Amino acid sequence: MSEKKMDAVEEKARQLLTERGVSLHDIADLVYFLQVKYHPELDLDDCYDNVDRVIRKREVQNAILTGIQLDILAEKGLLEQPLQGIIDRDEGLYGVDEIIALSIVNVYGSIGFTNYGYIDKQKPGILEKLNDKSSGKCHTFLDDIVGAIAAAASSRLAHRAANVE
Ligand code: MG
Repeated sequence: MSEKKMDAVEEKARQLLTERGVSLHDIADLVYFLQVKYHPELDLDDCYDNVDRVIRKREVQNAILTGIQLDILAEKGLLEQPLQGIIDRDEGLYGVDEIIALSIVNVYGSIGFTNYGYIDKQKPGILEKLNDKSSGKCHTFLDDIVGAIAAAASSRLAHRAANVE
């Protein structure tokens, strides 16, 4: 998959995404959703490749490790109150989930912010699944992280396309 050897942080970040039910293909589908209107000949392999590149960034891996860890602890009821309840209920005014996600979007500049806001409103594909509260899972952080990776990968793709054209 990657030329360079994966270190423990990257390996764990990728493993956590998989364990929490998110594949890179799911995120690639979101990138396709965001970008196909600007690049009609876009293919899913391009989307996948950009997602994979985004996940190689340490900032992104750190956000994944931190956010998913909090989701897991909340799901197990292991956090102290009031944080336990706030994360478990995915309270709208909490906002730290979005701040962590923005640290991912930040990596590829300002187009990412627009994409992130848009996909967070639309909630296509895997984002709809993660937001299904009836699953018994806590994805308060993960849904924002996945949206942010898709937004960052879209920015990366858009910048590269602009350089080619
Ligand atoms: Mg959230």
